[in-house]
Amino acid sequence: MSTDPVAISKILPEGTAGFVDHIGIAVRDMDESIALYRDLLGLELELLEEVPSENIQVAFLKLDRGGALGHVELLAPLSNEGNIAAFIEKKGPGLHHIAFAAENIETVLERCREAGMRLLDEKPRTGARGKQIAFLHPKSGGGVLIEICRDPED
Ligand code: ZN
Repeated sequence: MSTDPVAISKILPEGTAGFVDHIGIAVRDMDESIALYRDLLGLELELLEEVPSENIQVAFLKLDRGGALGHVELLAPLSNEGNIAAFIEKKGPGLHHIAFAAENIETVLERCREAGMRLLDEKPRTGARGKQIAFLHPKSGGGVLIEICRDPED
């Protein structure tokens, strides 16, 4: 059960997931990708950091126009090791995950668990920007890797 991606809208607690926090994109070349999103598309580069535990470099670019706020997260492997390198090897660069903001990740994970969904993270962990994050398995997300992250407003 629970391979229906629509189910996620019922699982995320009401009122806590009003927006997509960011869209994660796996890239081969960080400089080229920043040139695309910042220099051509006009997003603001907010953060560029290495996440050694994941063997990746991460860039967060902010979309901020008329009060609508969102981010694009670029994920570039630092070597041939790790999940992002494996993803690019298998599928090529491109859309990697979609992240929903939630007030309480534990609550979301508990609801997903009760619904029989597969979790990649049993507990929230610290990701880029020092934010608490957890991933659901793409098999339970209709083929989409779904990240739940803590609302930056908190
Ligand atoms: Zn992410």
